[in-house]
Amino acid sequence: MTTLALEIGSTELAAVRIAEDVDADAVRRIPMPARNVWENCRSLLFEASDGLEVTGLGIASPGPIDMKAGVVAPGGVPEWRAGFGIVEAATVLFPGAAVRLGLDGVCLAMAERNFGAARETLDVLTVALSGHVAAGVVVGGYTVVGRTGNAGHLAHALVPGFDDRCDCGGRGCLEAVAGGASMLRWARAQGWAGGSLTELLDAARVGVEVPAAAVGRAGTATGRAVVSAAALLDFDLVVLGGPVAEAGPALWKPLGEAIATHARFSAVSGLRVVPSPLGGLGLLAGAGVLALAMAE
Ligand SMILES: [Zn+2]
Repeated sequence: MTTLALEIGSTELAAVRIAEDVDADAVRRIPMPARNVWENCRSLLFEASDGLEVTGLGIASPGPIDMKAGVVAPGGVPEWRAGFGIVEAATVLFPGAAVRLGLDGVCLAMAERNFGAARETLDVLTVALSGHVAAGVVVGGYTVVGRTGNAGHLAHALVPGFDDRCDCGGRGCLEAVAGGASMLRWARAQGWAGGSLTELLDAARVGVEVPAAAVGRAGTATGRAVVSAAALLDFDLVVLGGPVAEAGPALWKPLGEAIATHARFSAVSGLRVVPSPLGGLGLLAGAGVLALAMAE
């Protein structure tokens, strides 16, 4: 039985063959290509399969997705914005394989629950801050999928005190402040001349003013958003991952302050935010859980 996991990230594509103990070196990872995204996914999947007959495939994708139709339309992949039938394309590639699609945040939540910081917790919110914001909710031990597969889109929850324009067409969404692409846009508008999210995070870590302020706004907005979600769903643990979560005190200090300021209602006053222990493997691990859950 050969099971593969495919990650559609905000800046990368990755694939791996699921094994008892997946090592980061086994992951095939490439920067997000400007075009022919599926052709690149196909090459990664063939490499990962190592010539074996594939029986299962789990796919983690940013939203919006249509889980029933097997279609994804992530904003970060221009040629898929009108909708790409990824499940059908994967089924053509591996006839007979069980293909399952999940929102990236849903996959992350499954990974944290099975292997990460939420193994002992039945109620948890997982958030990953990278080029975009991915989040997933576990309630009573069940990962919440929602009506269309898009539950957990904390990215488009509104954050009081912010009015930034969001790529979804709205204003004041968490992603418009805490998504990596939005942070870069904001920093450039303030005169910062750097290029990539990695550069911005490195500069924030050593206290360069504008990058640190961009990351600080992300921390404040994330803190406010998770307090609202905790009040709604009654969890006391948030697991935070993704490259932005590694920006150190520039992110964690304002985040902690926002929680201290707003988590006053007694049911949320014990709210804790902990770093994800899964590094860059969370999405693939979650996609693997999704594929294996279906095979059972
Ligand atoms: Zn939005």
